[in-house]
Amino acid sequence: MEEKIYDTIILGAGPAGLSAAIYAGRAGLDALLIEKLMDGGQLALTAEIENYPGAQENETGASLIGKMSAQADKFGAERKRDEIIAAELSGKVKKLIGGRGEYLGKTVIIAAGASHRPIGCKNEESFIGRGISYCATCDGAFFKDLEVFVAGGGDSAAEEAIYLTRFARKVTIIHRRNELRAASVLREKAFSNPKINFLWDSVVEEVNGGTRLNLIKTRNVKTGELTEIRADEKDGYFGLFGFIGMEPQAGIFTEIAKDESGCILTDENMKTNIEGVYAAGDIRAKTLRQAVTAAADGAVAAVSAEKFIQGEK
Ligand code: NAP
Repeated sequence: MEEKIYDTIILGAGPAGLSAAIYAGRAGLDALLIEKLMDGGQLALTAEIENYPGAQENETGASLIGKMSAQADKFGAERKRDEIIAAELSGKVKKLIGGRGEYLGKTVIIAAGASHRPIGCKNEESFIGRGISYCATCDGAFFKDLEVFVAGGGDSAAEEAIYLTRFARKVTIIHRRNELRAASVLREKAFSNPKINFLWDSVVEEVNGGTRLNLIKTRNVKTGELTEIRADEKDGYFGLFGFIGMEPQAGIFTEIAKDESGCILTDENMKTNIEGVYAAGDIRAKTLRQAVTAAADGAVAAVSAEKFIQGEK
């Protein structure tokens, strides 16, 4: 068991957590950065980054995260690979309990991000990895010259549909309304891409197939009409990518105040309702979820943690 008490424990090494680590390191805080998987969160899975200030031509999520990670390491944050399963945050010393150990801190910055929401159709679980995916950069290449479907209508759906046209011969966006929520630049790119088609006012009701996905049943939300889409016989199967939004990974933080969708409530200094506990990035209730706003949150949270610790001294 770890007995050391860190100045701050940063949970999550996406843009928010890495930025917090950079700012904490530069402020001379003794910081611990805990990540359960690889650095980067959702950003690491994003094919092309064109809206992060200073992003280079052909910048990918992975390349941008690589630079953020190296910069965080330069400022000396200690790192642990662990999945935090419980937290005790109300006391003066905060405790995070992981599968591999327990970690103590005077402050905690929660930057654990959000994970994809399941499509919510019948048989979804059994076709994950057999036609259903939530990551175009990870799995798009498996569908070279095949047909793929994308469920959703936000920035992710539009952006990833555009990316999937590099591989697939046809991409159909299935969206529950008749207009995209995605930003206009992405909407226009999607509309002008000859490989992208749209199935409006529709949701995926059920998926099926043999070893691989070859049947999608959709329901028109206005008429109730059910439509069966079958894979082309010579292809044998097709892909379905789910991008219907994100869920904050905040379930274990039972003491923290959240909004109705489970996002952590903070003030503009990233303070939560608990003294010494901050939230940054996609896990927090906010209007604009972008890498740049996550990084900004992380910076603010680290400075707030520093001020809190100074006040304690
Ligand atoms: P999102 O913005 O929440 O959009 C989710 C989409 O899925 C919406 O179009 C929504 O439909 C649809 N949807 C939600 N629940 C559904 C259900 N049960 N069945 C069918 N459709 C459903 O999620 P996102 O696109 O993953 O983006 C998440 C955040 O990351 C956003 O803040 C986004 O701006 C940001 N992001 C930014 C970029 C970028 O700047 N390049 C890229 C990716 C993501 P309705 O429209 O009808 O609600």
